[in-house]
Amino acid sequence: MLTLEQVQLRAAKIRCVIFDIDGVMTDCKLYLGPDGFEIKAVSVRDGLGIKNLQRAGIEVAVISGRPSEAMQRRLEHLGVPHIVLATENKLPAYEALLQRLGLSDDECAMMGDDTPDLPLMRRVGLALTVADAHRTAMQAAHWVSAFRGGEGAVREASDLILDAQGRSDATLSVDMAG
Ligand SMILES: [Mg+2]
Repeated sequence: MLTLEQVQLRAAKIRCVIFDIDGVMTDCKLYLGPDGFEIKAVSVRDGLGIKNLQRAGIEVAVISGRPSEAMQRRLEHLGVPHIVLATENKLPAYEALLQRLGLSDDECAMMGDDTPDLPLMRRVGLALTVADAHRTAMQAAHWVSAFRGGEGAVREASDLILDAQGRSDATLSVDMAG
């Protein structure tokens, strides 16, 4: 953990924010139906945070270990251009993203909640996590949200970065499509 001032200095440089899905954009639960059908809940408030980042010109990416058609559709609806689902090793996806965008580690933030996120959280300039993260993600994080995964942590992280960049104006939209 860093002080809020140190976090804000790092947040001011961020050009791309990468999110994990399960446990970050969701509460980490899967509701399993008889045919293997899965249901998970997302926060509309988080969705608006993702849109606000993009509105401010910040790239948003998702790198997740699990395939999910419904989540793919949700992310496309939010206009997220960089979506990697179902990758066991997140680092190659991250490095490809850096190359595609021409960015360096200190221009990227990553919000993760568990051990698969650690390689990325240790690389990026700003490592973010949720209030109910696994202890390893807590240890790797520069900043911990007051909110749990799927319950506003993504929105708080978005606000943190936009505030640090003096771009809170991007949050003032009345767009209800989050
Ligand atoms: Mg996770």
